[in-house]
Amino acid sequence: MYYYSTNNTSLLKSAREAVFEGLPADNGLYMPQEVPLLADAFLQNLHKQSLQQIGYTVLHPYFGKDIPGSDLKEIIDETLNFPIPLVQVDENIYSLELYHGPTLAFKDVGARFMARCLNYFSGEKDKKHVVLVATSGDTGSAVAHGFYGMKHVDVVILYPSGMVSESQEKQMTTLGNNITALEVKGNFDDCQRMVKEAFLDPALKTFIQPTSANSINIARFLPQAIYYFHAIGQLPHNTKNISISVPSGNFGNLTAGVIGQKMGLPVGQFIASTNVNDVVPEYLESGVLRPRPSISTLSNAMDVGDPSNFVRIKNLCHGRHDEVCGILKGYRFNDEETREAISYLYHKKQYLADPHGAVGYLGLSEYLKGHPKSTGIFLETAHPGKFKTTVDDTLGFETPLPEPLAQAMNKEKKSLPAGNSYADLKDYLEGKYL
Ligand SMILES: *Cc1c(COP(=O)(O)O)cnc(C)c1O
Repeated sequence: MYYYSTNNTSLLKSAREAVFEGLPADNGLYMPQEVPLLADAFLQNLHKQSLQQIGYTVLHPYFGKDIPGSDLKEIIDETLNFPIPLVQVDENIYSLELYHGPTLAFKDVGARFMARCLNYFSGEKDKKHVVLVATSGDTGSAVAHGFYGMKHVDVVILYPSGMVSESQEKQMTTLGNNITALEVKGNFDDCQRMVKEAFLDPALKTFIQPTSANSINIARFLPQAIYYFHAIGQLPHNTKNISISVPSGNFGNLTAGVIGQKMGLPVGQFIASTNVNDVVPEYLESGVLRPRPSISTLSNAMDVGDPSNFVRIKNLCHGRHDEVCGILKGYRFNDEETREAISYLYHKKQYLADPHGAVGYLGLSEYLKGHPKSTGIFLETAHPGKFKTTVDDTLGFETPLPEPLAQAMNKEKKSLPAGNSYADLKDYLEGKYL
């Protein structure tokens, strides 16, 4: 498979090149040249196949040319080493629990796959690939855990000292091995600026290969298509008229679902559920995409005012508003509604949801009001224990801390203090790699 840039369809790159580059130089996003329709024999028999088997069939068209079959299989088996169960919540409502991975959120799937691809593509002869990531909290831990133990790739995380939660800090700073956490005396913007300067510094490229693990990388975004197929495989066999609600921020997760639909996933309707950062629901109503600064909410992983993957959805729809409206319905919800949904799901349906999943549930319920015969799935993108403060506060009692978080809390933090200028980052990198 070759990949084109959304800004230039004749600039074609291999999967390897697109994974290394992340973003095309023309500031577009990479898209697969073709989205193949999968065989009927596969689509009719999803219920008979394991998550890993589905993963291989779905990703082979995209990566099979650059990664031979048995290696790709191994990468996928290692990526998907945790279950993704579909849990019934109501008569015609199911939750796809994407939070059983090491950092308890769906980003584990993309981060783990991308880490293994990069590691595979970087031979030992190459300069060391060093993933540089600035984080205000969660991205750092998903990337750190995803890349943990990779032989050819190191990770350097920059986070603002004193400005991430204790559990986020523990998740980033207790791994060791090929993961280093720089605790920057500054804010998130300083961290981001330091990383940006590193990518622009030619001197650095003489002794390392600085690499981004950005969420728009094809190796982070495409594997997310897998679990949509696995979800359908877990519904009662031959369920028709299926709708899927995706709690969305940057819209990478939803874009992967739309790609799945083009590959033959039997889904009738996708629902874009957002918090009050509602650029996309507004676009569906007005035809105008109006990016703006984000507003902070309880579902903070979706506080995005300029959703970067939305160009991919528009691209799949030939840039046409009516086509986008054909595949997407959009709904937005505020924090009060989110809390009501967490409470309703717990008290009336015995289901514990996190704030993001709750927004997904709300969007699905809204859609089902007009389509009562549809069977709906909402994606539960994070473990409720990751948002324990909000969940406990809403329900009025203490929910248990999930085991991986409890374990990280007991480990010793190992971070390196750093100043907030690029020179401080460069000093560290020269000391370690030059
Ligand atoms: C990142 C994230 C989202 C949003 O996903 P996008 O692909 O950016 O739309 C939703 N929920 C959680 C828990 C997340 O971490």
